[in-house]
Amino acid sequence: MTVAIPKETHAGETRAALVPEHVTKLAALGAKIEVESGLGSTCGHTDADYTAAGATVRTDRAAMLAEADVILQVRKPSPNDVSLMREGAVFIGLLDPFQSPELIQALAAHGVSAISMEMVPRSTRAQKMDVLSSQASLAGYAAVIAAAEQSGKIFPMMMTPAGTIKPVKVFIIGAGVAGLQAIATAKRLGAKVEAFDTRPVVEEQVRSLGAKFVKIDVGETGQTADGYAKPLTEEQIKLQREGMTRVCAESDVVITTAQVFGRRAPILLTSEMLDAMKPGSVVVDLAVESGGNVEGVVADQIIERKGVKIVGIASLPGTVPVHASQMFSSNVTALLTEFWDKETKSLKLNLDDDILKSCLVTHGGKIVNEKLAAT
Ligand code: NAD
Repeated sequence: MTVAIPKETHAGETRAALVPEHVTKLAALGAKIEVESGLGSTCGHTDADYTAAGATVRTDRAAMLAEADVILQVRKPSPNDVSLMREGAVFIGLLDPFQSPELIQALAAHGVSAISMEMVPRSTRAQKMDVLSSQASLAGYAAVIAAAEQSGKIFPMMMTPAGTIKPVKVFIIGAGVAGLQAIATAKRLGAKVEAFDTRPVVEEQVRSLGAKFVKIDVGETGQTADGYAKPLTEEQIKLQREGMTRVCAESDVVITTAQVFGRRAPILLTSEMLDAMKPGSVVVDLAVESGGNVEGVVADQIIERKGVKIVGIASLPGTVPVHASQMFSSNVTALLTEFWDKETKSLKLNLDDDILKSCLVTHGGKIVNEKLAAT
């Protein structure tokens, strides 16, 4: 069975879906690995590294895609790439399925079995395949580093003969996987950290990292069975904004990570709230790719508004491509290994399996995912 890894075509994408370490692992299962020449050039791996690990390096992308049984990619495929894939091929990657109805239709119409890595369930068994968590951890770290770079202040307290420097105040909105990692990173840099999340269960986790949990009463909130936040009503969002205005105004850095699975991210920092912030403050919006938590944020731009910098890096994991590729590669390798049939040395899609039921979105010419079919 041939597993092909094409180069990413999404503008600015620096990650690779498979790194040489995992080429060796998959080859040991009996897979024939083919990579497009230059695959690892943005994340520290040469063609020679892939060859040494057991892969074949190909220069004809179209032929490679047309012959592949399984295709691994970080981002979604272009319509042209889909048209090249053969019927019955399996595509595995971040498909952004709720925002890409036409792509999902095209994959189904083309007879491709598509696995959306975002839809891997957040169960204990699937933890090793959880791309959202692995990439969100890196995004949380990278957001703090980006904020530190943009801030004119140092993060820790410093006592010197020239006087005492106070630690910066960092406010983190949304304390899921990315937010908790951002809290830990900001704490390590010596900042004074506060955080807020609508899921009450998070309070203890925030405290255990040494940060203060900001109490805002927005009424009944809660979370879904998958551990995701439930969307707030307009009235609740208004209460939340009011409760956060003072904290934002007193903070040097605000990092927003609030997302609601399958929906546009809620706007939590309005222009009025930004107006109340101190000049020189920095806001990093980690939700920019799903619409943004900050009014006026622009993807891949740093805009300055009345002295406040608003940072909208679309792919924060892409700023640390070596580890982001390593983790993504580890996640997809775990998925392939889980569903690999050792006898036939091929990927076997067991449609009754809980994990595949959740993340296989197209199969046999149809959209097979319940959540997607319902949208
Ligand atoms: P996410 O990226 O969808 O959202 C990020 C955070 O934003 C969440 O904590 C959410 O509660 C918060 N949020 C949403 N609306 C908000 C608002 N208006 N104001 C403030 N915060 C808001 O979520 P995620 O980080 O990918 O995961 C969320 C949770 O899922 C985790 O914390 C965990 O409990 C669970 N999870 C479980 C597993 C597992 O069991 N294997 C793996 C990963 C995550």
